[in-house]
This record gives sequence, C-alpha cells and structure tokens, in this order.
Amino acid sequence: MSYCVNCGVKLDASLKRCPLCDTPVLNPNEFHALTPPSPFPAEKGQVEVVKRRDLAILLLVVLISSAAVCGLLNLLVFSRSAWSLYVIGACLLIWVLAFPAVLNTRIPIYGCLLCDGLAAALYQYLISFNTAGQEWFFRLALPLTALLTALAISFALLVRGISSAFLMVALYASLELAALCIGIELLIRRFLYLPLRLTWSAIVLAICTVIAVALVTILTLTPLRDEVRKRLHF
Ligand SMILES: [Zn+2]
Repeated sequence: MSYCVNCGVKLDASLKRCPLCDTPVLNPNEFHALTPPSPFPAEKGQVEVVKRRDLAILLLVVLISSAAVCGLLNLLVFSRSAWSLYVIGACLLIWVLAFPAVLNTRIPIYGCLLCDGLAAALYQYLISFNTAGQEWFFRLALPLTALLTALAISFALLVRGISSAFLMVALYASLELAALCIGIELLIRRFLYLPLRLTWSAIVLAICTVIAVALVTILTLTPLRDEVRKRLHF
C-alpha cells in the first residue's frame, strides 16, 4: 500500500498520480512490479436512455389523440369548415417523417423518402379541400413534391451507390440544385400559363455548371485532389 508523499492520502496500487494533489506516485518497492489492472471499468457506459419503441408509442398516441380530438371538435362544435384536416394531415405527416428515427425499421432510406413525399402530397391534398379550387394542388404542388422526392431519392442513390466522398457529394449537390431550380421555374411558368423557358434558373444552371466542371477537374487530377483535401482538412 502506498501513501502520497505530499498530502499523505492512502493510494490505490493502480494509481500513477495522487487523485487529491496530483503528485506523481513513486514507490521504490513496487518499482519493478507490473502495472496492476485499473479498478475502474475501461468502458465508459451510461444508463440506458429511453427505449425507442416506448418513444414511438408515446408519439403515436399523442398524434392519434390530437387528430381524433380535433376531428370530433370539427364535426360536433366548430363545423363551419373542414379545418381539422390540417391537423389530421399534420399528425400523419409528423408520424411518417419521425417513424424512421424513433423506430428501428429495416426500411431502406429510399422507401422512407418515398413515404415522406407521399405524406407531404397527401397533406397538401387535405389542405386543398379548404381552398377555392384544387388546381394549385394538381398543377403545382403535386408535381413540385414529386420533383423534390425524386431528387432526394436520386441523391441518396448517388451517395450510397457511387461515392460518399465530400467532393463527390458536392458534385451531386450542385447538379441537383440546378435540376431543382429548373424544375421549379418550369412548373411555375406552366402553372401561370407562361411560355416554357428558363430565366433565373438559367443563371443557377450556369453557376452550378461551373462548380461541377471545377469539381470534376479536381476529382480527375489526383495530386490536385489530394492537395484540396489536405488544405480543407477532410
Ligand atoms: Zn497527495
């Protein structure tokens, strides 16, 4: 058994320094002994956090009860418009967006993204019941949601299927941004019965093309690519 030469506290054989005053421990008798194992566990554990399944049940119960209560209030008390569709749609949307996070599902990310897109479209459809016409939904909101969903799925496919290196992800992002802006502009022009041509999205397309060409050049020239990686620390 050792004692600290500075403060006199009793020391465990495994300690290299006094836990109170940080004085190094040096016992000449134990000098040649092998370092004994530490009395503390090597692995830092922690108490188990809330189980995901319980969280999912709680979320589901809260969402279902909110939707049901609002639906009943709408039917029985405030029945002038179908306002509860907003709440019911929002609850459904929250559930679809949140369930991959709270439940350990085996659904691939593409499936989850597709479900998110369908839920968003359904929510907008429910909102369209309370508006004067449903034209905005079918001619603008639905195609825009489909475009966003398709781009999100293709982004996931590219990252998973080809490469998730930073420069490659930047390349996919610049190409998808150009496609998104072109799509948005064309859909808006179609909705407003304007001739289909590019104006502002052409500027985005030009900038994204320059970025993409620069990225492809960097990716093809190995020494340059390594230099960029070194400079940017990734
Ligand atoms: Zn001490």
